[in-house]
Amino acid sequence: MMNFHILTLFPEMVMQGLHTSILGRAVARECISIEAVNIRDYTLDKHGKVDDYTYGGGAGMLMQAQPVYDAWQAVAGRIAVRGAAPGRVIYVTPQGRTFHQKMAQELAREEDLIFLCGHYEGIDERVLEEIVTDEISIGDYVLTGGELPAMVMIDAIARLVPGVLHNTDSAVTESFYDGLLEYPQYSRPEIWHDKQVPPILLSGDHARVDAWRLEQSILRTKERRPDLYEAYCSRP
Ligand code: SAM
Repeated sequence: MMNFHILTLFPEMVMQGLHTSILGRAVARECISIEAVNIRDYTLDKHGKVDDYTYGGGAGMLMQAQPVYDAWQAVAGRIAVRGAAPGRVIYVTPQGRTFHQKMAQELAREEDLIFLCGHYEGIDERVLEEIVTDEISIGDYVLTGGELPAMVMIDAIARLVPGVLHNTDSAVTESFYDGLLEYPQYSRPEIWHDKQVPPILLSGDHARVDAWRLEQSILRTKERRPDLYEAYCSRP
């Protein structure tokens, strides 16, 4: 079982988003667990404050080190009690390495992953230096908070955990798995809006279907993602 822990100011947002459909069923079947830890529960401020002005001036508020550190310690303590390896702590930030499928594959091998979601202007650098092992971005744009990036990453990672998808083949043939985009796919009916399903898919000849799909994957990748196509062609 893989365990996701999310340090956030908006636990209800991530829990609602991650407990639907395939991931919700994976939680129910105990293939994965997802817990959201409210950073605000750990503040020592009597008014429940978790943010303050930045030293040196500038617009916006910054999440303070203490509540983030204490929330992380609580999670790390629970992981240690189980005797598991300390979980990697991923700070989702536009300043991190850009997330991609190979990272998802690598992270899916971990037993525990801790996601740290920033808000406002971000988080006091000192606590990041102490607890964060990985800084990861979901793309070159700035969002209001780390909850959506954490959800995006958890979705991509969780579906690679054995047992989460019923048909393990689907993760193996999908876009990016082998460096190519996936081939086009069709379902019933055979003709829709005068468009016929490619006849080869109805032939029942699996070897020819596989060859057609590979050819389509290559063509599609060449057209849509020349960068991936070049990398595919230059593979040993
Ligand atoms: N001041 C920060 C900067 O310029 O790098 C941006 C802070 S952003 C408004 C608030 C939080 O949203 C960040 O701490 C981070 O957790 C999250 N976030 C925003 N964009 C993101 C992205 N592209 N990838 C991952 N996390 C992101």
